[in-house]
Amino acid sequence: MNSLNKTVKTSILSASQETLHKKSTPISANLGGRNRQPIALISIHGDPDVDIGREEAGGQNVYVRQVGEALAKLGWQVDMFTRKIHPDQPSIVQHSPHCRTIRLKAGPLEYIPRDELFEYLPEFVTAFQNFQAKEGTNYPLVHTNYWLSAWVGLQLKQQHNLQLIHTYHSLGKVKYQTVAHRPLIAETRLAIEQQILEQSNTVVATSPQEAEALRHLVSQNGHISMIPCGTNLDNFHVISKPEARLKLGLDPHESIILYVGRFDPRKGIETLVRACYQYQKTTGRRFKLMIAGGSDANKSDGQERRRIEDLVKELGLTEQTYFPGQLSHNILPLYYAAADVCVVPSHYEPFGLVAIEAMACGTPVIASNVGGLKFTVIPEETGLLVSPQDIDGFTNAINRILTDDIWTQKLRKQASVRVSENFSWAEVAIRLSDLYRRILAESIMDERLLPRSRSLVVSEVTAIPPTTSTRKVS
Ligand code: UDP
Repeated sequence: MNSLNKTVKTSILSASQETLHKKSTPISANLGGRNRQPIALISIHGDPDVDIGREEAGGQNVYVRQVGEALAKLGWQVDMFTRKIHPDQPSIVQHSPHCRTIRLKAGPLEYIPRDELFEYLPEFVTAFQNFQAKEGTNYPLVHTNYWLSAWVGLQLKQQHNLQLIHTYHSLGKVKYQTVAHRPLIAETRLAIEQQILEQSNTVVATSPQEAEALRHLVSQNGHISMIPCGTNLDNFHVISKPEARLKLGLDPHESIILYVGRFDPRKGIETLVRACYQYQKTTGRRFKLMIAGGSDANKSDGQERRRIEDLVKELGLTEQTYFPGQLSHNILPLYYAAADVCVVPSHYEPFGLVAIEAMACGTPVIASNVGGLKFTVIPEETGLLVSPQDIDGFTNAINRILTDDIWTQKLRKQASVRVSENFSWAEVAIRLSDLYRRILAESIMDERLLPRSRSLVVSEVTAIPPTTSTRKVS
């Protein structure tokens, strides 16, 4: 351990001993505001600095960016590492004095779907190590996101004395139960998802449902810490429906059903469109369906978008359906607030940020009864839960929410309270910060108690088969 690291580690140890239970103490205060502890968040395919809602950019990108910025406010020096996908992208983006995105070259400078990225990971590991050497930094703690980054984290842990924390964002064992065709990379992913649970200091489950799935489907071994996702309560908050509609130029009286998210078959947009059709057919009522998110037609999510547009046409819903495209977080609160209901019809959803964003804005949510949505949406209190792909179930739920004004008023209030009391990024960052400090403190204890050779031992990590090119064969 170099002397700078040693000083910082010692500061962390004493800070942790003193303040382990003082949740909101900024770490910079413990370090006298001088030596910020550097930490690396790795999110290879989820760039924290891109437009969210397009192609594969969704909840993971939001999580890393929000957590990164909030951790910097708590006193950490936060570097968020991702893969550079275009020559024009800046390699370093400074978001705030102590938080930046760093784009490393790993593979061609172009978008590559996540299922085809595995072969470029060794290059990412090397680029990360070169960056560390150039900056003269050794990250004592690395927090990886999604299984691709987990592999990188496991390689780094084998070579450096660092503490490793992981958030899954999606779990192969659960996801593959909901898809017709497993990608070629499936077995590798499942192996790495098990290794990261067994070999990291801890994994972070974002809902009790995820924690249970990890324990029952992935491994009996390894530590699991439950820290949910959050939302930015300064941005997503209650706005009156008439005011939001006025600002967006929407009819103050019509019923509005909203979907927000990526265009991906597992998001279940088809179920929503079919349920809207059935609602119209059986009740004769008029409504507007807004489907927000997605890129231009020539991008990777264009195929699903075209499929949904064709379905809308086929069912004769073109007139009442509106596709506003990708919306930024600046404008999204108005859309949520203008809607009578937000529908999250996913086949599988590890957490589902959209549900809490809508509820924070006081909009009831109808969601599939899966994953983290079972944790965030309280049926009959903040919205309704329906079995995934159950068109009749979604139709009935839409009918109930759009026709019972008094009950809906109650849902709106309860929804916003549920989020403000339980799901803020600021609180998530405090809990992660406490976790990091505890793990760093324990690592110093271990180093003192154990012979160095033992504290560095980790078992073998899934290797990249030299002849496998996931890209070409998929
Ligand atoms: N989102 C956005 N603009 C859009 C569509 C989606 O900013 O046009 C954001 C949305 O607000 C949320 C994230 O994308 O923060 C989606 O996260 P979620 O966890 O719901 O789904 P994921 O994309 O991770 O499957």
